[in-house]
Amino acid sequence: MDCLFCKIIKREIPADIVYEDDEVLAFNDINPQAPTHILIIPKKHIATLNDIEEADLAIIGRLQYTAAKLAKERGFAEDGYRVVMNCNEMGGQTVYHIHMHLMGGREFTWPAG
Ligand code: IMP
Repeated sequence: MDCLFCKIIKREIPADIVYEDDEVLAFNDINPQAPTHILIIPKKHIATLNDIEEADLAIIGRLQYTAAKLAKERGFAEDGYRVVMNCNEMGGQTVYHIHMHLMGGREFTWPAG
């Protein structure tokens, strides 16, 4: 399958991996938008948020759980942080393997651009 993030999971493309378990991989974004900008992805290939099935719900929960765990480890959980998941073209998705952006270490504004 010609998927960038699947290739990172299989170590066919290098990435700065910061966390891994049986279901999830997390690595630093190549183009960080905050002092900490980590992408958290399921090892299962799911192209978009619209493709999540009921059987995937535990994996999706694990993405959020991992985001909070990494935020706590890095010391910005109490100050606050942002998680973002973009869906399809109008949502700003550019890689079609779902991923949660975890961004921390600066103040964020609302609404998002
Ligand atoms: P999206 O726009 O929500 O799909 O986010 C895709 C993210 O993947 C962007 O923030 C990119 O900077 C990031 N990205 C693209 N290629 C790589 C890579 O090879 N390693 C790490 N991050 C990447």
